[in-house]
Amino acid sequence: MTYDAAVVGSGPNGLVAAITLAAAGRRVLLLEAADGFGGALRSAELTLPGLVHDVGATVLAMALVSPAFRALGLTTIVPFAQPDVAVAHPLDDRPAALVHRDAGRTAEGLGRDAAAWRASIGAAARAGLPLVETLLSPLSPPRAPVAAARFGLLGALPATVLGRALFRTVEGRALLAGMAAHSVLDLRAPITGGYGMLLAASAHMVGWPLVRGGSQVLADALVERLRRLGGITVSGHRVRDLRELDAPIVMLDVTPRQFLRMAELPTGYRDRLRRFRYGPGVFKMDWALDGPVPWSDPEVARAGTVHLGGTLEEIALSEAEVSAGRHSPRPYVLLVQPYAADPTRGGHTLWAYCHVPRGSPADMSAAIEAQIERFAPGFRERVLARHTMNTADLERFDPNLVGGDINGGTGSLGQFVKRPVWSPAPWRTPLPGVYLCSASTPPGGGAHGMGGYHAARLALREHP
Ligand SMILES: Cc1cc2nc3c(=O)[nH]c(=O)nc-3n(C[C@H](O)[C@H](O)[C@H](O)COP(=O)(O)OP(=O)(O)OC[C@H]3O[C@@H](n4cnc5c(N)ncnc54)[C@H](O)[C@@H]3O)c2cc1C
Repeated sequence: MTYDAAVVGSGPNGLVAAITLAAAGRRVLLLEAADGFGGALRSAELTLPGLVHDVGATVLAMALVSPAFRALGLTTIVPFAQPDVAVAHPLDDRPAALVHRDAGRTAEGLGRDAAAWRASIGAAARAGLPLVETLLSPLSPPRAPVAAARFGLLGALPATVLGRALFRTVEGRALLAGMAAHSVLDLRAPITGGYGMLLAASAHMVGWPLVRGGSQVLADALVERLRRLGGITVSGHRVRDLRELDAPIVMLDVTPRQFLRMAELPTGYRDRLRRFRYGPGVFKMDWALDGPVPWSDPEVARAGTVHLGGTLEEIALSEAEVSAGRHSPRPYVLLVQPYAADPTRGGHTLWAYCHVPRGSPADMSAAIEAQIERFAPGFRERVLARHTMNTADLERFDPNLVGGDINGGTGSLGQFVKRPVWSPAPWRTPLPGVYLCSASTPPGGGAHGMGGYHAARLALREHP
């Protein structure tokens, strides 16, 4: 059988690219190296039999705001589960700061910073999906130019500067830092404030949900959609050389380092790809617990996501250490308690990671658990089983997680649109019909599928 398009890799970007091509009537072959589909959306029984853990992405706000997934009618194909509280940020010796779905309620909880929250994060949330679409399509004409310009004025700032300029309370500043640290950048770097604002605003727009039953449910639904459109899916097939593929369109859900190994590339382009920069890695942990985490502040139990790391100053220090190539002794920890939203995962599972230097072999379990104990004394006694993945384990699980980098390359100002090269169409490569579509292309990391969407639409225009 001949195909109009071959897609290599079944992460959210590969799947969205394949579906977009198949929906346009192309005969699509999808090849995946792993035994299962979904890339970093896969779930597995990592600790005890019957317990479902998300190995990679778990809180899928970006999927809900993504124009690509919205076009697929995502919420009608998978059930999302919303926790009572989107995000909790525990603090020493005072109540936790909380981000609710409702911006007004969140603002009220911030006392002196109520007006500032409404005017910054609240305004971004009110600008809504047209603003998000503008930010997720940075090389297209903006859908919301005025809102984007307003957002850009504040969002261009480092999170440390923006946090101190906008907010006066420890809580307001800590919330922004916890959000901004998802960027895996030094919080003194430009645009980290923007990452924080966008993520916080997304909690007000669509909540911070999980997929009921695990992220794999979303991956499976996408695979099912592709098959119904006539796509052929093959797992356990790693593409090592592009000459294996015989199709006029080739979509690569891989990062530049893998692409460099798959094909002879013109020297100039090859050198530009070699200059692409990967970011720090993560150390991932999953637990099976015999009950909920015993948080000192019981409000934290209502949250799906918990940001651990204390004040803005402390989180900024932790992230600066990692960016400088060192391990933070008190790391910023991103923790998710799925049972707060989704009772179908077989019990009390817990998910967390902290940032580490790229390629680090370090075991950060003790440091991560110390941060949890700090805000939930007695936590360790609840642990029935634990599972850890260092940066090499992550890369074995998914070769796109180069050195443990979960975003397919650093999302710094320099690489926000220069991804992986400067170009009005960076998805296109110099090889005829070959496109990159992974998180290493705009708009970067996150389970939104937008790299795949942009790449596939470009390919359809160029191969009518
Ligand atoms: C631990 C962790 C936590 C995360 N948390 C979140 C979160 O909560 N929310 C969120 O929005 N995002 C999160 N992310 C980020 C998000 O998962 C990624 O940005 C997203 O999955 C990138 O999608 P992708 O399609 O570009 O690549 P991937 O999902 O990495 O998929 C790439 C696929 O390509 C396959 N592949 C690679 N090379 C080949 C080859 N040569 N031949 C065949 N197949 C190949 C791989 O096996 C893999 O299946 C997290 C990621 C990780 C790892």
